[in-house]
Parts: sequence; structure tokens; C-alpha cells
Amino acid sequence: NLSEKLDKALHVLKGHGQITEINVAETLKEIRRALLDADVNFKIAKEFTNRVKEKAIGENVLTTLQPGQLMVKIVKDELTELMGGDVTGINLNGNPTVILMSGLQGSGKTTFSGKLANYLKTKKNKKPLLVACDVYRPAAIDQLHVVGVQVGVDVYSDRGNNDPVSIAKSAIAHAKTNGHNVVIVDTAGRLAVDEQMMKEIANVHKAIQPHETLFVVDAMTGQDAVNTAKAFNDILNFDGVILTKLDGDTRGGAAISIKSVVNKPIKFIGTGEKMEAIDVFYPSRMADRILGMGDVVSLVERAQEQFDEEEARKLQKKIAKNQFGFDDFLTQIQQIKKMGSMKDLMGMIPGAGKALKGIEIEDDAFKHVEAIIHSMTPEERANPSTINTSRKNRIAKGSGTSIQQVNQLMKQFDQMSKMMKMMQGGSGRKMMQMMGG
Ligand code: GDP
Ligand code: MG
Repeated sequence: NLSEKLDKALHVLKGHGQITEINVAETLKEIRRALLDADVNFKIAKEFTNRVKEKAIGENVLTTLQPGQLMVKIVKDELTELMGGDVTGINLNGNPTVILMSGLQGSGKTTFSGKLANYLKTKKNKKPLLVACDVYRPAAIDQLHVVGVQVGVDVYSDRGNNDPVSIAKSAIAHAKTNGHNVVIVDTAGRLAVDEQMMKEIANVHKAIQPHETLFVVDAMTGQDAVNTAKAFNDILNFDGVILTKLDGDTRGGAAISIKSVVNKPIKFIGTGEKMEAIDVFYPSRMADRILGMGDVVSLVERAQEQFDEEEARKLQKKIAKNQFGFDDFLTQIQQIKKMGSMKDLMGMIPGAGKALKGIEIEDDAFKHVEAIIHSMTPEERANPSTINTSRKNRIAKGSGTSIQQVNQLMKQFDQMSKMMKMMQGGSGRKMMQMMGG
């Protein structure tokens, strides 16, 4: 990854005392290459390395043990700055607050509308209304209804009506009379920028005067994302960008380019297909991610959100008393699953994205484990030590697995119990607290 490359390239700097134009040239080339790999626009990458050079030259590297780390810091700070520096929230001042989604077909508007509604409902205590203004495909209206049911948010649609402007207006009136304080308008997109789509979204925009106009873009589309962003911004002068499909290994260089080209903040990112896969955009975390450090902070935060504090406390007591059983193990698995798919989670661990490249991770990696535990009797779950060979055979049969798989799980469980007991003291306790205890 980029930070390793930097470390290597800067190795030669050790002993030179200072970063100079000559000894930094190779490093800057590496940085530029890594940025291009991460989908950053060529011109932006070049300007970027020039700025890094200015900052780095003359820095004293004798005082730092690893000049590479110093360089990484300069690069990271510069990247963070480039992506907007601070976190930008969304304006929720209107009553109702009207939020308009824009973007190409397939960028993730409908999915994000649901995620945002869910976020505003659960985190900001709002009562959102979702509005279906994609009138071209009946399936699009159905999709928004499905999303609405998933997150428990009302959906406004009008199947007989093919005028998005009038639907949006009626929806806002409906919101007012029904106590909705946020209106999220999902719109139709085309596969590419075309005049009719732009005219339509511009008309809706003009008619409803949204408090927030958000441009949704698929991070995996790389340089195209930048061109699309520019086209939409020219017409809508939108307030913020939503970067979707930043799951797993997607590098997110588009984040840098878009911010530089349209100069609008990125407000949220989408990191998976599930309704919970939404995160506030933190420029410094994205910089870490682009540098290949993984997004550990987000991972810990997500864990904190999902782990019930009360549950964690109970669990801690059980571990202390040596009463941790398979039922608790099952609860743990279910909580981990709530955090997102295995793939999403692995992508946030430093180095894991690279290590797992090309390896298909089963979305339901715990399927066998769950089946095995479900085939145990309550007594067996509470007292795993009573599970002898004949019981193992019965469990394997009942769960449609093999005795090897049962043995493997028993072994893993044993190791985990031991580890948990160890974690009771010292730094382990800190970790449990971090996980919500
Ligand atoms: P729209 O045409 O802009 O409304 O896009 P949709 O919301 O229908 O999304 C298009 C496809 O992308 C769907 O299959 C979504 O499940 C998927 N999708 C949306 N956001 C994300 C994301 O953050 N990660 C992943 N992996 N898939 C996403
Ligand atoms: Mg849609």
C-alpha cells in the first residue's frame, strides 16, 4: 500500500538529514502513482505532489526515527485538507426540511434515500417522508416502497401521475399535514448525462426549492464520477455529495477529485447494500483509507453503536464467572452480523482488503456455525464440556455439517473463551469497554 511504498522510498533519506529536492523525487513519483491508482485525476495528483514537495523540503528527518512516517503525515494532512478538512453535516432547519436526491441511474439514490431516512429517524429523531419521483419505471416506485417498509418510514407515491414536479409538491403538502419534518425526494436518473434528465431535475429543483440538494455518485466509477459531478453541479449547484459503494477495497480516490473539481463537501458515504451501511464522511479517515491504513476508527465506532451496553455488561459477568456458553457465542455472532456483511467489515481492517483480494467471502460466513449451535440442546450450549463424541456426531447430523466442522467450532469456542478470560484484566478490559461495555 501507499504507506509501505513511502516507507521504502524514504528509506534512502535516512542519514541524509534533510528532505531535499533530489532525494524526495522518487517518493513523490510513488505518491503520484498511488493516487492515480486510487482513481485521482491526473492534474489533481500532480498539483498535490507539488504541494507535498513544498512542505517536505527542508523538513529535518534526523530527528524522526522514520522519515517515511513524517512523509506519510505530510501526505495525510494534505489529503485531508484536499477532501474538505472538516465534517459537514446536512442542514435540517426547514419544517419540513426538503432534501432532493440527484444522480445517474444505478448510483444508489433510492438505496441512499432509505439509508438517510433511517439515519435521520434513528439518530436525529426525525419523522421523514420518502417521495417516489422516479416515474418512468413502475419498479422504481415499488423499490422505494420496499425500502420504506425496511426502515419503517412512510413513502409517498402517485402511480397515475407522471409529472415529478407535481408529485414532489403534493408530497410536501402531504408532509405538512401529516407531521413529517423531513421530506426526501428520490428522483429518476439516466445511465448517462442527457438533456432531458437534466431539465427534469432542474424543474423539480426550482419548484420545491430544497434545503439540501444531494448528488449521489458511485465511487467505483472513478474518473467518470468527476465528469458527472461537474455536469450536475453546473445545473443544480448542489449542496453536497454522497459517495456510494465504498465497500471493501474501493479506494475512494474519486472523493479527492470530486471535491477538487466541484468544491462541494462530501457529506455521507455508502458502504454496503444494507440500510445500516451509511457513514458520515470524515476527510481524515478517508485519507487514511486512501493511504491504505484501513478505517479502524469507523469499525470501532460501528461496533460501539451495535453492541448493546447492557448485554456487554452481562457478558462480562458471565466470562468472569466462567459461564460463557454457546448461547452467548450465538448472540455475539448475531451482533457482529448486524454491523454489516463480513466483506464490509474486513475492508475496514488495515491490510485485510489487500490480503483478501480475489478471495470471495461468503456473505453469511457464520451459517455453519449457527446451524451447529442450533443443533445443540440448551444444556449442551450452557455446558460445552459435556459434548462428547457421540453428541458431536448427533450435532453434525442435525446441522447438516461434518464432525470435523463441529470439532473445529468447539476448538474455536475454546480458544475464544480462553482469550476472553485473559482479556478480563489489563488492556483487555479497555477493549471490552470500547466495544460498549
Ligand atoms: P438508483 O438507480 O440511483 O436509485 O440506485 P439504487 O439505489 O437502485 O442502487 C443501485 C444498486 O446499487 C442496487 O443494487 C443497490 O443495492 C446498490 N447499492 C447502492 N448503494 C450501495 C453501496 O453503498 N454499496 C453497495 N455494495 N451497493 C450499493
Ligand atoms: Mg432509483
